[in-house]
Amino acid sequence: MRLAVIGGGIAGLAAAWEGVQQGADVVLLEASDRLGGKILTERAGGRIVEHGPDSFVAYRPAGLALIRELGLEDQIIATHGTRKVQLRSRGRMHPLPDGMGMVLPTKMWPFIRTGILSPWDKVRAGLDLVLPRLLGSEDVAIGDFLGRRLGKGIVRKFADPMIGGIYGATVEELSLDAVLPSLRVSERDHRSLMLASLAQGRSARVTPGAGSPFRTLREGLGSLVERLSEALVAQGAELRTGADVRRLERVTAGTRLLLADDELEADAVVLATGPAGAARLLGETEPEAAAALAADISSRGLVLDVLINNAGLGAGGPLNLVQEAAGQGVRAVLNETDKPVAKHHCRIPSQRCCLHNSLLPLGSRVRPSFLLRL
Ligand SMILES: Cc1cc2nc3c(=O)[nH]c(=O)nc-3n(C[C@H](O)[C@H](O)[C@H](O)COP(=O)(O)OP(=O)(O)OC[C@H]3O[C@@H](n4cnc5c(N)ncnc54)[C@H](O)[C@@H]3O)c2cc1C
Repeated sequence: MRLAVIGGGIAGLAAAWEGVQQGADVVLLEASDRLGGKILTERAGGRIVEHGPDSFVAYRPAGLALIRELGLEDQIIATHGTRKVQLRSRGRMHPLPDGMGMVLPTKMWPFIRTGILSPWDKVRAGLDLVLPRLLGSEDVAIGDFLGRRLGKGIVRKFADPMIGGIYGATVEELSLDAVLPSLRVSERDHRSLMLASLAQGRSARVTPGAGSPFRTLREGLGSLVERLSEALVAQGAELRTGADVRRLERVTAGTRLLLADDELEADAVVLATGPAGAARLLGETEPEAAAALAADISSRGLVLDVLINNAGLGAGGPLNLVQEAAGQGVRAVLNETDKPVAKHHCRIPSQRCCLHNSLLPLGSRVRPSFLLRL
């Protein structure tokens, strides 16, 4: 079977890999001149700078499985050390309480003391300890589930900036089963999400490093793209860059793909272009699917790369810069100075924006170059 994969980001490369494993004759078509899509790792001056994603979550098995299949397991590192997250609540920024996961505490005392939640929010969250199991077999929105178990305080002040910020949506729009299936498992096994998280915290303290859900690769996520591309070529896949697919046409034997100066036919096509690109390509042949995709494009990712001098940054330095750039919209700040990656993120869920700020030792000069990418 001839399989055409349109889009050479991680989704397209992973789909091509799956196709090759199933014995398909794979051609991957990428419009730009490089593979990786949003994954772009720059290695400069002994440092690794991620321009897009910098880590993946260990509680979703697919990424780890792919890395293992490619023999990169020994390159996996956890992100920890000097990583500091601050959340905006009740008019100011607060550090994330020690031991706090995405939404649930793995240590009770710092959670009780945090200024992020009001006393009422904490009492309401405690109701989770006595509530019966609430989930049926059907999927629900994460915000709805967490709201019923732990109250709106946890949803607004932790879940929205921490989970919604990552996925560029509100937790009312995100599926529990697709995004955080581990919460379903926690309720099934422990009934209370708090008890489940505290138990995980205890076992993580016995196994050092197991606490952080974030992992990355020693040489940056770009090394996954590089290894995957090499493995695909070695297994006979054709990877074409500069290959912008303009139109799709149905033909008797499958689909014809029309490029600027070429065309090819395939028995099956994977669209890994992102929703906007897929909606455009499906407009003529599958208008209903195209309309559904276009309606679903709710996340407008505004990315600001701010390159500034790493030396001489006071505690409030990058934060002030970021707040100045983003006004009052900033809800969460992630400041990572862990070597080799040094970076600074802000999540602005209310505006569905992600502000991403790489800190580089560029000499003494501040480079306030805001590079806007939509
Ligand atoms: C700043 C930032 C930080 C992020 N951080 C994280 C993180 O830490 N962890 C995480 O898990 N996720 C993170 N994400 C999200 C993650 O980067 C994306 O979900 C993921 O990279 C999307 O991969 P993709 O292959 O679906 O799409 P893309 O990477 O966008 O790739 C799509 C590709 O399709 C190509 N294409 C489009 N149309 C056509 C066409 N007609 N013909 C041929 N090619 C076409 C494009 O050129 C592009 O290369 C982050 C995103 C951003 C922007």
